[in-house]
Amino acid sequence: MAKFTGDVSRSLDEYLIISGRQKRGVTPEKVSLGYQITPDMYIPLGWFSAAMQCVTGDRLSIELAKYGGMGVLPRSLPIREQVELGRSIKKAKAGFNYNVTTVKPDMLIGDLIELQRRTGYSNFPVVSDGSLAGVITEKKYHPREDAGKKVAERMIPLKDVVTGSDGMPLEDANEILLSRGLGILPIVDKGGKYVAAVFWSDISKHVRYPQEFVDKEGRYRFAGAVSTFRQDLKRARALVVEAECDMLVIDTSDAKSDYAFSAIRKLKSMYPEIPLMAGNFIDVDGFLLAAEAGADIVKVGQGPGYGCTTREVKRTGRGQATAIMKAAAARDQYAKDKGKIIPICADGGIENAGYMNIAYALGADLLMMGKYFGEFTESRASLVERTETIRAGGRELAVKVFLKEYWGEASRKAKNIERYGYSSMDTFVPEGKAGLIPHRGSIHDDQDGIGIDIAFVEKTFSESGALNQREFADNATLELQSEGSRYEGVSKV
Ligand code: IMP
Repeated sequence: MAKFTGDVSRSLDEYLIISGRQKRGVTPEKVSLGYQITPDMYIPLGWFSAAMQCVTGDRLSIELAKYGGMGVLPRSLPIREQVELGRSIKKAKAGFNYNVTTVKPDMLIGDLIELQRRTGYSNFPVVSDGSLAGVITEKKYHPREDAGKKVAERMIPLKDVVTGSDGMPLEDANEILLSRGLGILPIVDKGGKYVAAVFWSDISKHVRYPQEFVDKEGRYRFAGAVSTFRQDLKRARALVVEAECDMLVIDTSDAKSDYAFSAIRKLKSMYPEIPLMAGNFIDVDGFLLAAEAGADIVKVGQGPGYGCTTREVKRTGRGQATAIMKAAAARDQYAKDKGKIIPICADGGIENAGYMNIAYALGADLLMMGKYFGEFTESRASLVERTETIRAGGRELAVKVFLKEYWGEASRKAKNIERYGYSSMDTFVPEGKAGLIPHRGSIHDDQDGIGIDIAFVEKTFSESGALNQREFADNATLELQSEGSRYEGVSKV
């Protein structure tokens, strides 16, 4: 007969926080969600976007790094594509955007509006045969009356566009944007070829969120995921050498294995200077295995992911709250015994600021989210438009709803078989689903972007008199909640 742990697998949703004592002077602005991962790497916001095809690409990684967090590029992409995304992130730094969506002069305004809605951008350089032809902004056309016209008819023509020159310092570009009140400054080379663009919105974000996560050369940081399979050593090399990635993440569904142990050792010996996150683990043995092999961060979770069916089909895994508790206890014991703190990153099932708070209270140092980031415009998945009929005031109304695609890395769609230990699609058994999730809007949205969740977490920490994750876990008290309490806690309005 199998052994019993004697524990109950608890989920994040089962707990409430009873705040610790608020202290004078501990205000939300003073709270830090950062973490010193290695002596050389401090992450200003310890939030990672999951290594999932539908979540993390270059755009989300860049926008998240502006807030101090980090994108993890999925290993299920072909090596070349993963490397190119990484390169694009490294190119984007310093306010010069080299991967801006451009439009052609003969594009219809109707199609431009569609593009604008899909991408969330409002200013586009107009480019013809590689040369700048003008700029089109949303102020220049009427969405209905001009829908059938061409971009060329409504754009600001080249002769009236203020441009910057290739190689100019960022400060000068910013100065032009500010003094002329422009939304976009296209950068062109000596021959008039379009090169890049600088946006006013980037400067204003920088003022609001000064803690960007950048490398020594001021370029945005990102991580690349690899599997435990030997063939991925090539992928790791390409990520480190060609794409100059800042962290490697061994991403496998169940890392308590000889394969993961060897992969951690191997990668750490090949690239001792690159921080290595490894997972996923859910128990003390797993934590110790990763720590002994040399991981710098241990990733925790098995089965709580939004699109995950592992527990339904295999009954393996652990409630995410219990998994974090076990890993946190192992971390603390290891620190006592060996004098080294190896942080844990809670991965899966963290959908909102409330769950983030619970994960922190249970002892998580860092967080990884898939669905949470997948809902933003900047995630890698496509935006889907649906028309739904609602009844209001006795009438039927057609309303448009916007959704994002979401698919698990263990779904057939992702074909990420190595993450689950398979070497052929023929023997692969899916442990994940594909579906749709709400589209929340831009990560930068004032009302509903990432800033609001950062604010919620900072407020919760400060209410417990805590300035960081460790103090919060030490000061907060958790209580299991009943079904009645859960019902009581949901707004009835
Ligand atoms: P989420 O934040 O709830 O979306 O969870 C994201 C995490 O779920 C990822 O970082 C992976 O660890 C895990 N995951 C991603 N895809 C799958 C899947 O198809 N099956 C099981 N787990 C998955």
